[in-house]
Amino acid sequence: MDISFKCPECGQQVKDGLIEMIFDLRDTRVTVGNVPAKVCPNCGQEFVDGYVAENVNRLVDRVTEDVESYAKKVLRPATVSRQIAITV
Ligand SMILES: [Zn+2]
Repeated sequence: MDISFKCPECGQQVKDGLIEMIFDLRDTRVTVGNVPAKVCPNCGQEFVDGYVAENVNRLVDRVTEDVESYAKKVLRPATVSRQIAITV
C-alpha cells in the first residue's frame, strides 16, 4: 500500500496497526485478531489491504467449515450461538 496513504474521511496520514475483524456467520461470530491494517489516528477508520482481506476470508471459511462439521458430529442445537477467535 502507498506509504503516503491518507484517510478519505478526514485526510489524516494513516498509520500501520493491528486490528480485529469480526464476521457474523449464521449462529457463529468469528473474531480475527492481529490483522495488519492501516489505521487513521484521527477518526479511527481502518483499511485492510485486498490480499490481507482475502487471506482472512479464506481463513474464516476454513475455520467455519471445520466448526460446521464438528457441530454436526456433536449435534449441537442450532440455537446455540458460538464465538470463535482467531489470531493471525
Ligand atoms: Zn480519518
